[in-house]
Amino acid sequence: MCSNVIVRPIMSCEIIVAPTESFLPRQRVPATMWGRSFSIAVRTIDAWFRPAVVLLLVCRKVARDAIKRTRRFGRRVVQLVRYRVPGECRRCPVCGSPQLRLLDPLSLREPVQGRQVGFIAGCHACGVVFTNPPPTAGTVRRFYSPEGAWGASRQEGGSKRDQKPSSRYLDVVFDPAVIGWSIQAPPSGARVLDFGCGAGGFLDVFQAFGWETWGVDPAVKTAFARHSELLELDGPATFDLVLLNHVLEHVSNPLEVLRQLAGCMRERAVVYVSVPDFDGLPIHGDLKYCINSRAHSFAFTRDCLVGLLARANLEVIALVDPRNELTSGSPVRIRVVARKGDRPVDLPRHPLRSARKALRHYHRRRVFTARHHWRWLPVRFRAALADAARKNDRRRRKALKLA
Ligand SMILES: [Zn+2]
Repeated sequence: MCSNVIVRPIMSCEIIVAPTESFLPRQRVPATMWGRSFSIAVRTIDAWFRPAVVLLLVCRKVARDAIKRTRRFGRRVVQLVRYRVPGECRRCPVCGSPQLRLLDPLSLREPVQGRQVGFIAGCHACGVVFTNPPPTAGTVRRFYSPEGAWGASRQEGGSKRDQKPSSRYLDVVFDPAVIGWSIQAPPSGARVLDFGCGAGGFLDVFQAFGWETWGVDPAVKTAFARHSELLELDGPATFDLVLLNHVLEHVSNPLEVLRQLAGCMRERAVVYVSVPDFDGLPIHGDLKYCINSRAHSFAFTRDCLVGLLARANLEVIALVDPRNELTSGSPVRIRVVARKGDRPVDLPRHPLRSARKALRHYHRRRVFTARHHWRWLPVRFRAALADAARKNDRRRRKALKLA
């Protein structure tokens, strides 16, 4: 717009166009639709242009910041959803199936390359629930060596596993009506093997009944002053009774152990297995007892245990103490007696279903915990959040200690 010209409307019918200097005579321009519109447009642009430019610049900056922040947030979400722990299994450590499912985050006792939270995973094929990433064979060997964390604390005995079983316990577990003979009157030369015998509390009782007693334990060797130690599991089939009292959850491959033990058993020999009860989790509420990253690397439901025994050619003949009378009504343990058979046993169709159900009901009962409210989020996402929270917590503690 020319600086020495004033354009202003007069009345509604004409426009005066005059120079700012009065050296030109005033001219009356006849009002037209064009002139009026032009005037309004010029005034509107004059009034709104500069604020609009400023607003545009501000908006541009805000928009850029918002885009940056959104991108950063998106990247963080992708990082959380893609959370991985080094050493994670892609196949079931028991049966080798690739049909795995992450069930829940799990705090790791020992961080794996900076990751402090791993997973509870389940196998659709065999139904086993396990710590993912599982401890390596070297870690397990060190842990259960006499100098390891497990063995060192048990050298003096005194743990529950080392105590002698009560007569009531023996009557309930080894019911002659179920197994067909009495443990108190064994045939001549009958042999019992306690896999994971500890200080030998069970073997002492069987020895007193007249059994030839054998044991296996990598951590505690005190029992072998009184009983024979079995060094290799691939020997001839010579055992009539095998005990697996809270051992399967500790080993690095439960199915392999069951198959090796079945190979050591005579035809129609009996195995007794006791493990923490994952089916009873909603009632007893002790998830850490069932599975943790320290000693209990595997957890079992009844379906899973029956299936694993079947894969090792062992047929379950009795579910011991189904009313949990030995544990005052609390479903803390699964106890079964199985017999070595010569015919294939049917496998459960959906072995992981009961484990998922137990975990779901367990979380429903813990409605006031944050973990319950996060259930709708993906497991990897929850694990990543838990990992970040644990790291923050550790940093805060460190800062408090320094202060
Ligand atoms: Zn499996």
